[in-house]
Amino acid sequence: MICTILGCGGSAGVPIIGCHCVVCKSTHERNKRTRASILIETDSTSVLVDTSPDLRQQALLRNLTSLDAVLITHCHADHVGGVHDLKMFTHAKSLPVYAPIESMVYLKSTASYLFKQENKWYPTCLTLHELQDELRINELIITSFMQQHDSVVSYGFRFGDLAYSTDVNKLNSHAFKVLRGVRVWIVDCLRYHWSPSHSIFEKTLEWIYRVKPERAILTHMSHEIDYNEIIKLLPHGVEAAYDGMKIQI
Ligand SMILES: [Zn+2]
Ligand SMILES: [Zn+2]
Ligand SMILES: [Zn+2]
Repeated sequence: MICTILGCGGSAGVPIIGCHCVVCKSTHERNKRTRASILIETDSTSVLVDTSPDLRQQALLRNLTSLDAVLITHCHADHVGGVHDLKMFTHAKSLPVYAPIESMVYLKSTASYLFKQENKWYPTCLTLHELQDELRINELIITSFMQQHDSVVSYGFRFGDLAYSTDVNKLNSHAFKVLRGVRVWIVDCLRYHWSPSHSIFEKTLEWIYRVKPERAILTHMSHEIDYNEIIKLLPHGVEAAYDGMKIQI
């Protein structure tokens, strides 16, 4: 299985429009972050997690042309804003989208045309399914778990030995149970200091010490995180994500 980090930026991406900070002005490729999304690929299956507003750019850059399913973590705009671009991945048949119930309502209201057959010549682009605790896409088994994200709930996903936890500031005992024994954990780390809705550096490291994956990879990083600076602070086994990063497992 290969996981590609399509985007690892905060909700505004990096650089942020109009910001003149050192990170936003940096020419380092790893300080350029599109909105958070990953792609999971096996020999026969491709699953996209979230449809960021940068999906088109991410797909063109990574040569992503076909998908078997899409998972949605929650319905904040930086995770669903690219839903309209899923149309390009529906060829002869409709593409299944698995989303939490609140996100289903949001998607249906903002992109209703994608979920119904508009004429007899084209199939319905997307079929919407409520996320279950466990689901199977071809041979890929996916476990989902609830995460607290300030006043809303987001979902984390485990794909065998790899798990993805973006947009989270609290994890309950069930989440830690699902994460037990995971070898690679991609986890939220918005910045160094306080956030009401995201994990921050110290908290993310505490979680990592608890989960003990072989590799932990920080994601959803804002412009307060400079790639070259953060990698000097990270303990062994913890890495900072960058757009285009590939994790083979
Ligand atoms: Zn987000
Ligand atoms: Zn900035
Ligand atoms: Zn969010």
